[in-house]
Amino acid sequence: MQPAMGALVEELGLPTFNQNSDGDVVFERMSRETPQRYRGTGADQQSIRLVGGTAALVRALALELPSEKLLLGMRVTAMTLVSGGVELTISRANGATRKYVAQRAIAALPPRLLEATVVFTPGQEAATAQLWRETATWMAPHAKFFALYDRPFWRDSDLSGTAQSMVGPMVEMHDATTASGSAALFGFLGVGAEQRAALGEEELTRACLAQLARIFGSEASVPRATLLKDWASDPLTATAADRGSGGHLVPGGAVWVSRPWQERLALAGSETSPSEPGYLAGAVEAAKRAAAEILSKLQVNDQHG
Ligand SMILES: Cc1cc2nc3c(=O)[nH]c(=O)nc-3n(C[C@H](O)[C@H](O)[C@H](O)COP(=O)(O)OP(=O)(O)OC[C@H]3O[C@@H](n4cnc5c(N)ncnc54)[C@H](O)[C@@H]3O)c2cc1C
Repeated sequence: MQPAMGALVEELGLPTFNQNSDGDVVFERMSRETPQRYRGTGADQQSIRLVGGTAALVRALALELPSEKLLLGMRVTAMTLVSGGVELTISRANGATRKYVAQRAIAALPPRLLEATVVFTPGQEAATAQLWRETATWMAPHAKFFALYDRPFWRDSDLSGTAQSMVGPMVEMHDATTASGSAALFGFLGVGAEQRAALGEEELTRACLAQLARIFGSEASVPRATLLKDWASDPLTATAADRGSGGHLVPGGAVWVSRPWQERLALAGSETSPSEPGYLAGAVEAAKRAAAEILSKLQVNDQHG
């Protein structure tokens, strides 16, 4: 479904496997009804997972970069145009800062987050800042719940691990068992970000496990471990504006950087992709475009001595 992603995975030689979808699917329509099972039709697009998780892609890309150039555990908090480049202010979690001057910068993060968390001097033009602010970060308002088990017990009852629910708190569930056989189920929460914050992790975990037990049987209520990841409260993904529903972006040809920054800054967050905004494939596409743009500027400058 996402050729740019498929091509990169192939280029990096990363092994993949199919997400399990063999077996019946379950639909939970109302709290007073027992969940219904339906024969899996196999009509849906097959979901593919990376061995080692999606982070395997990040690790593979990082391998090609000189390690001494990677500054981890730090955030860019300000960018200032200086003679011949951009001065970046980089902050550690403990508040210590350092400065770094680059000829050009690529900001590979959601535009809305860039606008909210990085101070530009001179400031971005009002229309540009507004475009960044109003560009929703797809999926940033969402959260996932994972339950890890000793074995994928649901498969014994010929259940695929796929389920949909109108009861909640999860609305869509899948088998998240890894390539090495570590069994897990995961689901997207249908509860809004504000309500999740009000309920708290303990209450949500309890409700999610109760739901998994209703759908997949009592064994689901005794996982080896659970994990609730809430992107809406992750300051490296979401801003306060992402607590509402984001919706999907309409592909387009926006100009993301205006004068006087155009010469020095390129945006490469997935949202800036003209054809797959918001998706992983969009991040690949946007990064390729930003790299090409910067390389062509470097060549032009070389030609001009
Ligand atoms: C719950 C959920 C489900 C999703 N499901 C799918 C899916 O099924 N298919 C799909 O294609 N996509 C999916 N996505 C979207 C996908 O994750 C994004 O499209 C992709 O991660 C965007 O990549 P990116 O590199 O543009 O930005 P990001 O992945 O957001 O990376 C930005 C990076 O910048 C870092 N950062 C942030 N601020 C700073 C700063 N000031 N200084 C330095 N570093 C900073 C962050 O820590 C992060 O590492 C999903 C997203 C979520 C949250």
